[in-house]
Amino acid sequence: MDGRTYRASLDDGRKVYVDGAVIGNVGTDPHFAINVRRASATYDLFARDSAARDAFMTPPTGVESLRQRSDSHVDELASMTYTTMMTLLTAADRIAKVRPQAREAVDHFVGDLKTRDARITECITDAKGDRAKPPAQQPDKDAYLRVVGRRDGGVIIRGAKLHVSMAAIGHELMVIPTKAMKPDEPEYAIACAVPVNAPGVSIVSVHNGRMPEDADARDFPHSSQHALPQGFVIFDDVFVPEERIFLDGETGMSAAFAHSLGLWVRAAHLNHVCDDLDTITGFAQLIAEANGTDRIGHIKDKIANMAITATLVRATLEASIAHATAIHGGIMVPDEVFTNAGKYHAAASYASLVRDLLDIAGGSAVTAPSARDLENAEIGPLVRKYMATKPGIEGEYRLRLFRAIHDLTASAYGGHRHVALLQSGGGLYAQSIVTRGRYDMDRAKRLALESFGWESGAADACPRNETAPIPA
Ligand SMILES: Cc1cc2nc3c(=O)[nH]c(=O)nc-3n(C[C@H](O)[C@H](O)[C@H](O)COP(=O)(O)OP(=O)(O)OC[C@H]3O[C@@H](n4cnc5c(N)ncnc54)[C@H](O)[C@@H]3O)c2cc1C
Repeated sequence: MDGRTYRASLDDGRKVYVDGAVIGNVGTDPHFAINVRRASATYDLFARDSAARDAFMTPPTGVESLRQRSDSHVDELASMTYTTMMTLLTAADRIAKVRPQAREAVDHFVGDLKTRDARITECITDAKGDRAKPPAQQPDKDAYLRVVGRRDGGVIIRGAKLHVSMAAIGHELMVIPTKAMKPDEPEYAIACAVPVNAPGVSIVSVHNGRMPEDADARDFPHSSQHALPQGFVIFDDVFVPEERIFLDGETGMSAAFAHSLGLWVRAAHLNHVCDDLDTITGFAQLIAEANGTDRIGHIKDKIANMAITATLVRATLEASIAHATAIHGGIMVPDEVFTNAGKYHAAASYASLVRDLLDIAGGSAVTAPSARDLENAEIGPLVRKYMATKPGIEGEYRLRLFRAIHDLTASAYGGHRHVALLQSGGGLYAQSIVTRGRYDMDRAKRLALESFGWESGAADACPRNETAPIPA
């Protein structure tokens, strides 16, 4: 597809709602304009350069191609399609021993996805009801998506998947269990692919990160380009044919998809957040220079700490690639410990980097006049005069810096980004438990014992660290 055919493909009878209103055609509706435009641009790019498209959609088979992938910049929907494809291929490898047909089903689906040049989003997070209760004990049994019926050639599913990024502008929904299911919960162990326009699928699209309706894009340089729609996706008795089912009742393997997704989503986030942390550090330096505070001791210390955090997070990205391992077909998978520890550190540190940036910037990060104020013949020159600080730092430049800092960190979009970094791909707890479970604790214990001269081999005699279950 190219951008035009992609836009046309969205007019396929899908049921999408925004603020209570039904959307007739997602491809032309203004709520989705930014995201459809960005996705179309990648389609156009790949239509012009099929080698680039093939390279992007081919799983990495060496450390170098994994690294190159981390450098490629495509729109968020294409990026999510890649993450989802890698999730399916990784999970198929893990569950092949209990469901051998899963690999064939996944390979067939992924091949079909590439042939159709379709985009897919990730439906994992269930409504979950009472968090203290497992799926089978929920007052409403649909709190976790489940199989509610069977008929020739497939199953019928019911439930809801929340916070699904860009659900309304893709073509397919990858539905997977949000966590490990117990032996008495086989109906919840269902993984499958569902077309967005399948009968019974409804998407309530939420657009909280957008810039205000009547705003000027110059004042919102980030949100005007990158705000994402989030989908509240309802599956109301949706039929799924056999060939689109990747897991059906094998509870022991129900977490395999979530683990694989967790790895690839966190790897993708780690990749993006490295540039985000550098950008925030860059803004701190720029605004300090513009304010004339860049040589003051406490400002320099804060910026140095920001640079150290950004560098350490990037080091985990590098390490996750350098320590990647191969699965079937030679596909390279980033290292889990470095990926999870890095994503955790980035998400946990983000707020402190933003705090330091806003501390350094001053109050104009939320009170600077707008680009339109500058254009007013009467007040514009005075705004420029009082926003300027010294030769070389013009009023307009400093005002634009403040507006960009506001949009990135202190606007509705800024808050949205912060929550996204904390929660998407699982909250901090999910990353800490994977890190603890995969960390080489035996080696750490041995080093500790050896450090005070305890006899060699004693670590093996000590109780082993329990292997923590890895959650979604
Ligand atoms: C911007 C954004 C984009 C997202 N994109 C997607 C997407 O594309 N696809 C998708 O499927 N999901 C997506 N998510 C969902 C994300 O994975 C979840 O928000 C996250 O896993 C937390 O789930 P929750 O929101 O239901 O909160 P909750 O499950 O209520 O969790 C809130 C807190 O409670 C803790 N908690 C809850 N239950 C337990 C328990 N039993 N034991 C211990 N701790 C517990 C959690 O660790 C967390 O700290 C996205 C989320 C955001 C914010």
